[in-house]
Formats: sequence, C-alpha cells, structure tokens
Amino acid sequence: MPLSQGPKGHERPLSVNPFLGAANPVGGMTGAPPKHRLPEHPMAPSTAYQLVHDELMLDGNARLNLATFVTTWMEPEAGALMMECRDKNMIDKDEYPRTAELERRCVAMLADLWHAPDPSAAVGCSTTGSSEACMLAGMALKRRWALRNADRYPSRDARPNLVMGINVQVCWEKFCNFWEVEARQVPMEGERFHLDPQAAAELCDENTIGVVGILGSTFDGSYEPIAELCAALDALQERTGLDIPVHVDGASGAMIAPFLDEDLVWDFRLPRVASINTSGHKYGLVYPGVGWALWRSSEALPEELVFRVNYLGGDMPTFALNFSRPGAQVAAQYYTFLRLGRRGFKAVQQASRDVAQSLAGRIEAMGDFRLLTRGDQLPVLAFTTADGVTSYDVFDVARRMRENGWLVPAYTFPANRQDLSVLRLVCRNGFSEDLADLFEADLTRLLPQLRAQPRPLTEDRATATAFHH
Ligand SMILES: *Cc1c(COP(=O)(O)O)cnc(C)c1O
Repeated sequence: MPLSQGPKGHERPLSVNPFLGAANPVGGMTGAPPKHRLPEHPMAPSTAYQLVHDELMLDGNARLNLATFVTTWMEPEAGALMMECRDKNMIDKDEYPRTAELERRCVAMLADLWHAPDPSAAVGCSTTGSSEACMLAGMALKRRWALRNADRYPSRDARPNLVMGINVQVCWEKFCNFWEVEARQVPMEGERFHLDPQAAAELCDENTIGVVGILGSTFDGSYEPIAELCAALDALQERTGLDIPVHVDGASGAMIAPFLDEDLVWDFRLPRVASINTSGHKYGLVYPGVGWALWRSSEALPEELVFRVNYLGGDMPTFALNFSRPGAQVAAQYYTFLRLGRRGFKAVQQASRDVAQSLAGRIEAMGDFRLLTRGDQLPVLAFTTADGVTSYDVFDVARRMRENGWLVPAYTFPANRQDLSVLRLVCRNGFSEDLADLFEADLTRLLPQLRAQPRPLTEDRATATAFHH
C-alpha cells in the first residue's frame, strides 16, 4: 500500500450542506473548506462534526467484516471506561499510577495464564498491538544473540537470522527488514500450510537469533506445532550445542488456546519458549490498539533495552517503540479480564468456535468447496473451490459476497503453494449463529449464478478482495 500522498491536480473542496453553510451564518463558514489544506478560518464544532461524520458514513459495517481479527464490538461499559480514559497517556506512569498498575496486573494475569514458571519473575508490557510486541520480542532475541556473540558481531560474516514459516504475519518481515535480520522462511509443502519443526531446525545455525512459532496462522487459522518445534530444537542442541530460543506469536491463539485447548502445551511450560505476544484487540476482546509482550524471566529480556525515564517524574522502566500512547485500551483490557474471568472467556471463545465449526460443516455440505481448516483451532476457516469447480473461483465468491455487504478475503498462498487460492472467514465475538445463517443463505443464493458463469470472471483480484493478515 502506498503511503498517503498529496492530491493530484485540482481537487474540489468539501461540499457543504446548505443547512450548515449559508443558512447557518453562526457556523462561521465563509466558503467550502478545502480538502487538502488547513482551512483558513475555524468553523463551528457542530459543522465540523457533521462534515467528518458524513464522510465516515461510507466506511464498511464492521460486523459484516469477516476478514479482520480485530474486535469490532465491546459492551457500553467498556466504551464508557475508554471515554473516561481517553486523555491518559500510558507513558506518564507517574501522573497515572493507577493505569500503570492496571497494566502490571494484566501482565501478571497473562503470565499466569501462559504458565510462566514463576509469574512474579516474568516481565512484560502493553503495546499498540502484536506488531509492536513482535518488534520488541525480536529485538530482545537479537540483542541476546549479539551479547552471546560479542566476540564476532558486528562483523561481515555474522549476519543474524530469524527462522519462521513463510506463513508469518507481515510484522515479522517488517522486523527483519527494519532491524537488518535475515528472514529464513520454511515454505509450505503439499497440504502443510505452516511451519515444519524439522525443516525449521535445519535452517538454524550459529547466527540464528530465534525461531518464531505461530499460534495460529493468519493464512488458515491453524496452530503451528510449538511443542514439536521445541523438541526439534532440543535435538539440534544435543547434536550441535546450538541453544536457540523460541518466540510464540500468539496474536490470536494466545487468547484462545488457554481457554479452549487447555491440554495443548505451547506456552511457558516449554522451557525453550522465551517470549510470547498477543493482540489484546483480537481475541483479547478489546477495541484496537492494544497488544502484549511477555518474557518468561528478566534473563530473556536484556536489561539494556529497558529505558528508565524520569523527566515526567518518577522512575518507571519502559520497553516500547513509541513514547506517548493512549491508556484507554489498557483500562479496557483490564476491564475485560475482570469482567469475564476464565469462565467468561471460555464461553465467548467457545461460541466463536461453535459458529466457525458449524459454518464449516454447512459450507462443506454445499458441495462446491474444499475445507482446509474447520475452525477447530482458531475460530477461522479457510476453504477453496472443489476440484470439479471450473466456472468460478474464490475471487468471484469474494467479489459477489461483497455485493451483499460481506467482506470475505480471497488470496493466494505463498511458496510452495502459489497454485492454491482460498477464502478465509474469521469468526469473532459478535458474529452470531444468526449472522452465520444469513451468510450461508447469501452464499447459497449466489451459487447457481456462479455455477452458470462461463469461466472465472474477476480480473482485478487485488481490488476485489482485502486480505488483512
Ligand atoms: C494480527 C497478527 C499480527 C499483527 O498484530 P497487530 O495487533 O495487528 O499489530 C501478528 N502476528 C499474527 C499471527 C497476527 O495474526
């Protein structure tokens, strides 16, 4: 996506309803305000409000967005708390010590939820989302490696690398690019759409800062085999002496597995897992943007990366990319933890999984589709057209469903399965069984038309769909 650019050529100014302009001289409008320059004069708040409000009316209906993992509904009480906290700056821990305390409690709750061997020794912080959390975790891995290899880094032949599946979320490619780390990616193979533990271990060498395991993959919602990955790295250590830490990117799954898959061992129970991140604004059930990064102990997070600033008063350690950051999301996360508890989270996540699994069954029963995942890990299903279907493809389905308001992304898999294109449905809290019925009905109604096409018709695949991965 290009960065925002200025307007090309002449642009019309904002058009203003006469009610707000001429007929409303107290509005202070002396002419239509320009779109891309600061207006010369102020205008009345009610006029400005209406202009912005009207412009935003054409944004999508988030509840029909099955592409995003991000929370689109919270209770009014959470909204009220966020309004009350909208002026709080997370960095200002001295001015807002209670907000800072809520952050600490959230970290402690997550350390306990993710089975830190000694929750009081675990360290962590809130972030703006998983991307920032992954940057911080990656930086800790890189610094630890650099400290271990101080005798030969920096030098030409010691270029750090990070091992991961090719299905990683784009934030890991960003990390590698921004921090000059080589990304070593295990490709997909056959019906394996995520990391293979053995293949990952084989990519490791003395310059590997860590291996990223994903719970679960944005491409299809599957959990990567974290315990098997750790076992493969244990074997590697026995053979070669290389001791490679694992970071678990649990952007979605770290808030699903603890409630729905209690027997799955993926977290700090595995000694090799050094750090874990999650997105508070995905299955942590908070509006965007909040994320969390935790390290199993302070040894996993080099002290030299932690900053202590005292010019706002106080002396609180922080680890973050940004300085100022809104505090409301952290209050909302604490509210959600307090409000739901373990049982509440389990009920909410189970409801999403139930909807995903039932929808998977119903889509499969239509006969036109082959399911790759069925919502039994993340409440996410990925499916493609069945072998005999030649008159339309997944891009046609995405485009036509959009006519009914549904946002269902279609996209092509990466190496070595570029031949495979899929549709993905992310079931979140708020996507009820009733909405799933409507989705099924719309898709069912569409199928005869799609089957009657002479061939797949979507030429501009990039704009027909949107893949938020
Ligand atoms: C969404 C996601 C991210 C990025 O998270 P944000 O909170 O959107 O920054 C990283 N990794 C995985 C696996 C994700 O699903």
